[in-house]
Amino acid sequence: MVLFRSLFRLAPITGVVAEGGGEAGAKPASGGPVDAALIEDLVAANRILVDHGVLDSWGHVSVRHPKNPERYLLSRSLAPELVCADDIMEFDLDSNPVDQRGRTIYLERYIHGEIFRARPEVNAVVHSHSPSVIPFSISSVPMQPVYNVTGFLAPGVPIFEFRDVGGMTDMMVRDPALGRALAKSLADKPVVLMRGHGHVVVAPNLPLVAYRAIYTEMNARMQLQAISLGGSVTYLDPEEGRKIEMVIKDTVVRPWELWKKKALAKK
Ligand SMILES: [Zn+2]
Repeated sequence: MVLFRSLFRLAPITGVVAEGGGEAGAKPASGGPVDAALIEDLVAANRILVDHGVLDSWGHVSVRHPKNPERYLLSRSLAPELVCADDIMEFDLDSNPVDQRGRTIYLERYIHGEIFRARPEVNAVVHSHSPSVIPFSISSVPMQPVYNVTGFLAPGVPIFEFRDVGGMTDMMVRDPALGRALAKSLADKPVVLMRGHGHVVVAPNLPLVAYRAIYTEMNARMQLQAISLGGSVTYLDPEEGRKIEMVIKDTVVRPWELWKKKALAKK
């Protein structure tokens, strides 16, 4: 099975605990066994987002535990392209790992825990630094939807400012307070930009969050191209955005199946 490493390769990285911190003290109970198909989808989402230039060596994608909404699943600290099924860990909404076993965990996991807490309808979260989006996080020009696959951007794309919460920081969501502030900036939207850092995309499921993350990056490129032409730019109307979203949620399975097949065939 390509998704599972041999026992030899599974050997934990001993003596290493958390990026920039010690092993978490709290040991929450597990939400229970998870269907292997969901784990496979989460592994696929990691690789799909690498294939599309959304994730590089950094960034992460998570899914809410299907049986316990107070738990979520996220890889141990690892470049997304390398993530396999046995790298997936379970966390509570305070972002404490259920069973750390010495594994290194992502410093910015609070992004996921605090958004899952604040947004009960959200079941999948992507944090990325995809390059074309960054300019819109530092510019006064707002990101707006330019074409009929980015209707989800029509409600607006807020920008999270670290300085408003923590003053001069390292601009990493390294604690629950910053995670809560980020979730507050996101509010009820599907995307929030993080000034000079990256962005977060949320959705009700993994196929939709992958699609939104991929097309947020593409929208950024196209908006920049349209602005560069020099004339006026016509963006989608919010009503067009709502109508597009009604179609996309039922058709996203088509690209998802293709992306997943390609991503999982590699290893
Ligand atoms: Zn980051």
